[in-house]
Amino acid sequence: MKNKALKRLIYGLLAFLISLPLFSFKLIDPLKKDTVADSGFKIKTIIVDAGHGNRPPGASRYSPGSEGSYSLERNVTLAIALKLQKAIEKEIPSIRVVMTRTTPDDVPFQKRSDIANSNRGDIFISIHCNSLPYKTSREVVGHKHHKPVYRTVSVPDRSGRGVLLLVYSTKRIGPQIEALRENAEIGVDQQETQSHREDDPMSVIMLDEFKNKYRKQSIHLADLINNEFTQVDGRPSDGVREQVLFVLDHTAMPSVLVETGYINNSKDEDYLNSETGQNEIVDSIVRALKNYKDEVEQVSK
Ligand SMILES: [Zn+2]
Repeated sequence: MKNKALKRLIYGLLAFLISLPLFSFKLIDPLKKDTVADSGFKIKTIIVDAGHGNRPPGASRYSPGSEGSYSLERNVTLAIALKLQKAIEKEIPSIRVVMTRTTPDDVPFQKRSDIANSNRGDIFISIHCNSLPYKTSREVVGHKHHKPVYRTVSVPDRSGRGVLLLVYSTKRIGPQIEALRENAEIGVDQQETQSHREDDPMSVIMLDEFKNKYRKQSIHLADLINNEFTQVDGRPSDGVREQVLFVLDHTAMPSVLVETGYINNSKDEDYLNSETGQNEIVDSIVRALKNYKDEVEQVSK
């Protein structure tokens, strides 16, 4: 009996000693900083991302975005993103806004998330316009041997209206975890970096914590933005959805993709291209950001 108790004590001590270095690694710092229960957390940097863009000179691939009857998504997103930058800087002067693009040229997805992560963004807002794909239907174009001959026709579906908020789905966790790890390592010296290597189970658990927290925060921010759109601006809404999105799955911060309206719907296209529409969209996002910021910083006081 006595022997067993002694063994237990020794094993307990051993386990404690072994776990000591695990608790001391630096990954704890960014996690602590961002934990709601911790004191003094402030949102300092917001990344504003204008979706799509023109083909950059010499580029073989780019993401042109969708088209309306007279306007292009890539131009609308840039106009709204630039207005959003100005509005945040005016309404929340303590916040630094970092743009992923300010020119008409497209920026690759990876570079967008690199900009977000290397600037240590606290929030990532991506601006897009929605569009419904063409509908296909079959119509009879004649008869052959007494049987009808069909033809498949594509017709534009202009029935989509209003906003949609997308947040990153957790189906693919690999790239996001990598981004979190890279973020955590910024400013950490070599010796400390080695202590949270990939094979360290503790760091995997903590990165998982990060990911779950960002998912929850993303959904909450998306809800706040959606509420402003629907309750203040009276916009129709498809709500908040989780989706696997490349541009968001590499960002190690709460991230929301805002589909600001259907560019292939004539009413929405007019709204998206109008000063009034763009200002309403921007003001709604800024109000939601203020509320979110107040909430997050309030809890941490
Ligand atoms: Zn888009």
